[in-house]
Amino acid sequence: MNKLSILLTTTMLLSFISCGNSKSNNSDESHTPANGSTIKDSISSSEIKTEDDDSVNGAVTPENDLQEETATTISSTSKLPALALSFKTNITMMNLTAAQKTKYNKAIAMVKKVVATEAFRKKVLAHTYAGKTQFANNNGKTNSQIYQSILDAAESLKPLKNNTMDLGVKMYYAANSVVGYTSTSITYINVNTKFFNSYATNQVAGNLFHEWLHKIGYSHDSYSTTRRPYSVPYAIGYMVRDIGKSFL
Ligand SMILES: [Zn+2]
Repeated sequence: MNKLSILLTTTMLLSFISCGNSKSNNSDESHTPANGSTIKDSISSSEIKTEDDDSVNGAVTPENDLQEETATTISSTSKLPALALSFKTNITMMNLTAAQKTKYNKAIAMVKKVVATEAFRKKVLAHTYAGKTQFANNNGKTNSQIYQSILDAAESLKPLKNNTMDLGVKMYYAANSVVGYTSTSITYINVNTKFFNSYATNQVAGNLFHEWLHKIGYSHDSYSTTRRPYSVPYAIGYMVRDIGKSFL
């Protein structure tokens, strides 16, 4: 794309196998660089500080199951744009076992529920970085524009604004600290069963959303930096994970 992204990718390639410790329940993330190469990364516990711990409040209605939004939920979130309530997912499960599909389906349902909350909208719109209402690595977009891009759901490789998360998921196993990885040239993400198997549904949902945010064009530093947790994929992935926790 440009000189910056090429340099960034070179750095990424050099740190291709650089992975953090993931024995905590912090979700490692895979990463999609801006111009087509593949890298794998993870996050350290120091990055977990979330500035959004005003947390999930009464705007979210916890439920014990993961069914579709009910009429009650919709009426209680009437300030939301219609696209937040109609947000859909189109996930292709490429090699998942029946048990893995069941677990992944719960995470997918959770993602839809989270996007349909007022808490999610508020967190995205109110996110701050470096003392301003903004995200790091925001592609020049305001928080409101970023929120709208989520609702539009136009993936770089499937650029129709169809209000639908289009994504493939492929499982693999590796005895390392990489939770997953993807590339801008593919429409799916690779998910390491080493982590997937022990992750709670909201952790899977957070990781899924992080990866998908790459698919709609957002990136982040490939190695741990102070700004990386404030990037769109990390910060909003955390929001999904944290709001999703109330639906467990
Ligand atoms: Zn990433």
